[in-house]
Amino acid sequence: MELIDTHCHLTFDDLAKDIDGVIERSRQAGVTAWLTVGTDPQHNRKAIELTNKFENMYAAVGIHPHDTKDIDAETITELKKLAQSEKVVAIGETGLDFHYDFSPHQDQKRAFAQHLQIAAQLNLPVIVHCRESFDVTMEILEQFGTDVKKVVFHCFGGSAEQAKIVLDKGFHISFTGVVTFKNAEKTRAVAKIVPLDRLILETDCPYMSPEPMRKQKINEPALMIHTARRLAELKEMDFTDFAKAVTATTNAFFNLPSYPLNPTP
Ligand SMILES: [Zn+2]
Ligand SMILES: [Zn+2]
Repeated sequence: MELIDTHCHLTFDDLAKDIDGVIERSRQAGVTAWLTVGTDPQHNRKAIELTNKFENMYAAVGIHPHDTKDIDAETITELKKLAQSEKVVAIGETGLDFHYDFSPHQDQKRAFAQHLQIAAQLNLPVIVHCRESFDVTMEILEQFGTDVKKVVFHCFGGSAEQAKIVLDKGFHISFTGVVTFKNAEKTRAVAKIVPLDRLILETDCPYMSPEPMRKQKINEPALMIHTARRLAELKEMDFTDFAKAVTATTNAFFNLPSYPLNPTP
């Protein structure tokens, strides 16, 4: 059984300072590949550096919607350059966050479109962060039509109705530990309708530790196993079969070049 954590922030201090331990515990838990996600220029560079140290580790580069007020032309030029690095497999995270509003909507929208432009030019999948911004997010995605085909809504927090709209567009949906939370009936209802060939797993660590480890302040990839088990239950599936299916979906979506090393038929 091998799983891929498709959204972790391994360059954030809480994880970076014990990266060897984090990776070792993850491997032991069966989470044996990672996609570390950049959020600003500094973390994008660090993410790529880190992928060069670990087998089965990949990176995504992007500017988090929170940080888009600081973007200039140079940021975007560098982003496009970094996106062409060998182990970069996606653009992100990008999108719109109208919950915290740390950056003006205008800046968030402009940056999102710039990310989608790069993804279209380089033919890379996009990791979308969407919080209280569903309609505008879909509008901007629609402007790109089929130029941006591979899109995953990470840490999906929308309704089942919104999930159906996302699925109708051919996009993927990714779940964090939220699906294990007591009060997350809405997210579990969404999980039930997402087919296995569109379903992706992530921790979003260091945030969002799943139950029963929610008290562990710093989440890490090893804990994704709890999220995976809960989802397998919801799908009424054998855990190994579930893991195999989701890993196949993930490999195909991110076009991972060397993982798993020994694919099972
Ligand atoms: Zn996010
Ligand atoms: Zn994130």
